[in-house]
Amino acid sequence: LFARPIVFVKGCVSLADLPPMDRVEIAFAGRSNVGKSSLINALCGTSGLARTSNTPGRTQELNIFESQSENLRLVDMPGYGYARAPEPKVKAWTQLVHRYLTGRATLRRVYLLIDSRHGPKDNDLSVMNELDRAAVSYQLVLTKIDKPSARDLEAVVSRTMAVIAKRPAAHPGLILTSSEKGTGLDQLRTEIALLLED
Ligand code: GDP
Repeated sequence: LFARPIVFVKGCVSLADLPPMDRVEIAFAGRSNVGKSSLINALCGTSGLARTSNTPGRTQELNIFESQSENLRLVDMPGYGYARAPEPKVKAWTQLVHRYLTGRATLRRVYLLIDSRHGPKDNDLSVMNELDRAAVSYQLVLTKIDKPSARDLEAVVSRTMAVIAKRPAAHPGLILTSSEKGTGLDQLRTEIALLLED
């Protein structure tokens, strides 16, 4: 699946900028600084593909990546929950993200990234509510699992699984990842490959 390069296509600031609905789309969403850029880079094996930065809230566009070998498009959503972002900006992102997530027929799945040190927060739950309401398939991914102690990780995993179990619709299980150590990346690639098949 990731044998041929995944290339950056464009950054979209509005729905009108989006490419036509001609590919299977997988979106990545999460709070700012959750490790989304790092995960996309690690997944695709390309270090500079998605911008990694310590400045939360910098990526304000829907960044589009496409596989050169498969009918696949990856959509990097703007991070949410950045407290210092100006209000009008927050509104604009929220609207763009909302419209994309709820109105895109080619969107096959959203990977919702959660920091393994914190577990799901209120704004993650809001996104889950929105996705459940729109009947969009999503799967939770814990990031940076190399950071917490084994004991703390176990607690966050249990808490996150309990959150999934309480959702109104059934959802695929939790994936544990570390972009730093490469943990869970093969599992994620396999899941994405399966989504392309059906
Ligand atoms: P984004 O804002 O969600 O795109 O987050 P980034 O990918 O830019 O990552 C935010 C910070 O977390 C950066 O300093 C990364 O180096 C760090 N980070 C990301 N993934 C991992 C990981 O798997 N392990 C560790 N230890 N740090 C990570």
